Amino acid sequence: MESTVERKRRKTRQVRVRGLTIGGGAPVSIQTMTNLPIEDVEGTIAQIAMLKDAGAELVRIAVRNEDGIPYLAKIRRAVDMPLSADVHFNYRIAIMAIEAGIDKVRINPGNIGDALKVREVVRAAKDHGVPIRIGVNGGSLDKKKYPDVTPENLVASAMDHVRILEDNDFTDIVVSIKSSDIPQTIAANRLFSSMSEYPLHIGLTEAGYGIACTVQSSIAIGQLLMEGIGDTVRVSMTGNPVDEVVVAKRILESTGERTPVIRIISCPTCGRTDPALDILDIARRVEDEMQRRFGDMLRDSGRSLTVAVMGCEVNGPGEASHADFGIAGGRGGAMLLFSRGEKLRKIQAADAVESLADEIGRFLKNGGSV
Ligand code: SF4
Repeated sequence: MESTVERKRRKTRQVRVRGLTIGGGAPVSIQTMTNLPIEDVEGTIAQIAMLKDAGAELVRIAVRNEDGIPYLAKIRRAVDMPLSADVHFNYRIAIMAIEAGIDKVRINPGNIGDALKVREVVRAAKDHGVPIRIGVNGGSLDKKKYPDVTPENLVASAMDHVRILEDNDFTDIVVSIKSSDIPQTIAANRLFSSMSEYPLHIGLTEAGYGIACTVQSSIAIGQLLMEGIGDTVRVSMTGNPVDEVVVAKRILESTGERTPVIRIISCPTCGRTDPALDILDIARRVEDEMQRRFGDMLRDSGRSLTVAVMGCEVNGPGEASHADFGIAGGRGGAMLLFSRGEKLRKIQAADAVESLADEIGRFLKNGGSV
């Protein structure tokens, strides 16, 4: 579905992370983090593959100490996608991670301490073409300098770190400013983007899990994206990081940053739905079947498809008249197959998913453009 709202993306610098471009008008990218100990090399490699399959474009790995570097190097050799190292304070780990072939490093130069050490990190980053991400969080703000967590203080703290890198003639920078408070995160990112052109990694911290995390992250990230702010996103969610990627993808699709290949729409159902029909189950099976049968083909051809699953044939076809194809619940084990609001034919509810997929398959095979 085309967005009808014109949105102007804030102008930012461009940063290259292996094959990925962040900022400067590049598509907003999705990133996430592994959550296994780095010593579990096989597990981490498998998890990265799953994250990539789900749609992650950059994966960050926490490197706790220097002992983690050989494991990081092994993971690096096995994985051909942009990887970032998450390092706290220790400049030597940052340098070793860069030398191990990492594509981006997250470290706050103001936390390294010594100017000489900062210079060494910057030199390694420059030599290897590795950008540095500065990450300021509400919870880890320097309490002496910034006693209150406010948008202004979060931005001032980020700028402190930025200036240290700039003083070292380093501008290959991505910045993130996060808190667990939605209005504060939005205000801080707005403020930063009004005064700086460094690309922004956006998200909420400590956003929780499940539905609560999905809602909160969607509001914060969605609001900023709708204002043209944000160059790469991470949904921070307790649990399986694959879920972070799934939610991030949905946020990008919902805000018009990406076009979904297959978009399933369904109604909430109401008293008009035959209680014998499990519309939720049907909608889920339709989505799986559509992805399985047509996902690759549509992706390769750059086309998209909207498919509706509606609770009743009285209002369903009309309410979903913008869907390319759809099914709507009837009575006595029947459903109605429709396309663009036009009724096609009655089908058996028991094999509605297959009948719908076959109809779409025929349509696509005949060169139908949807
Ligand atoms: S499509 Fe039918 S079942 Fe679904 S909400 Fe509308 S009226 Fe109710």
